[in-house]
Amino acid sequence: MRLIQHDARHIAVKRFNLPVTAVDNCPKCAAEVTREFQGDDYISYPAIGVPERIYFYCEPCAVEWERHIVIQFSVTVAPGEEGTPSVALPPYDPDAEEEAE
Ligand SMILES: [Zn+2]
Repeated sequence: MRLIQHDARHIAVKRFNLPVTAVDNCPKCAAEVTREFQGDDYISYPAIGVPERIYFYCEPCAVEWERHIVIQFSVTVAPGEEGTPSVALPPYDPDAEEEAE
């Protein structure tokens, strides 16, 4: 088996939870604010491998601000399943894909 790696693509999942907690400080009061990305706190249709905008909100200050994260997704062939070498494709070009259809 082999894997062909594509560049940034969107994941067609409306409620995408992450096993990550993001922590930032409120720009007004400097209090720590967290994003858990679990349960009702999710990212919609995230892109892989490119900056993804996330928002923080400080309730006492009623201030919202944005930061960026990069979600990286890794899939490997399980040990013992190696075959032909895996390859990386050139950067994703949606225009090229439309022309091919
Ligand atoms: Zn604040």
